[in-house]
Amino acid sequence: MTRQTPPSAKPKRNASVKPTSAPAQAPATPANTPEKEALGWAHSARFLTTAAQLHHLPTTELPEVAFVGRSNAGKSTAINTLASQRQLAFASKTPGRTQHINLFSVGPKGAPNQIWADLPGYGYAAVEREAKLRWQKVMADYLDVRRNLVGVVHMIDSRHGFTDLDLQLLEFVKRRIRSGEVKLLVLLTKSDKLNRKEAAESMRAAQAQLAEVVTDESDVGIVLFSALKKVGVDDVAMALKEWTASDELAQSCALAAQQALQEAEEDRLGE
Ligand code: GDP
Repeated sequence: MTRQTPPSAKPKRNASVKPTSAPAQAPATPANTPEKEALGWAHSARFLTTAAQLHHLPTTELPEVAFVGRSNAGKSTAINTLASQRQLAFASKTPGRTQHINLFSVGPKGAPNQIWADLPGYGYAAVEREAKLRWQKVMADYLDVRRNLVGVVHMIDSRHGFTDLDLQLLEFVKRRIRSGEVKLLVLLTKSDKLNRKEAAESMRAAQAQLAEVVTDESDVGIVLFSALKKVGVDDVAMALKEWTASDELAQSCALAAQQALQEAEEDRLGE
């Protein structure tokens, strides 16, 4: 992924504008393009755990990517589409689970190299004020202190653009984005509902909103996304795959997790 330069966040290459016919000399069906590899990697996402509170989240060195957005922005659909699984993110929608952080591991079975954290959707009108404030605090803390957080995927409905709540959420993590510690990828969702002109306008508006978080150090990107029409899916998979851990780190994390499990089991047997 290319580093962004101020003053504006850069649109990622979008599937919708990719040439549809192969170049004359290219092999008819390339065995494994970077897009296919990235999609195959994303398809390996599987449920890891769910936590109602921050301190219940497992501690790991694996890079973690948080998926955030207003409720109904298309977050669950985007995760399911990336993972090519119908139900993966819908655990987050089960009553009683809507305010949990759900973690998925991605990468090889024995040595996952990234974690996806599906954060609760915000802005749902029917949630009581007290619960809203409690969760606002959890999100703020998560984005501020989660040590292994390497990136945020922010779902924004392409028809509505950034709302006040979206801007508030960005405030929580702005410092880490500006320093480059945390990368930001904005998905302008449901782009199938827009015509070309509206899509260009949505992109321009998002660039303008993000101008404040873009610095020489930051990595901020925007993708026009449609789960329905499969627009931008491979671009997002490729961007996320670039944020994975090295094989060595993935293996040492897998080993550490195995040892922790074994110790817990020994403690249990010793009791
Ligand atoms: P979440 O609350 O952010 O997890 O949102 P959902 O993924 O549940 O999506 C909310 C609504 O938007 C659902 O009715 C989806 O079917 C719809 N939706 C999600 N993605 C798309 C898309 O790419 N195109 C269209 N047209 N609708 C979508």
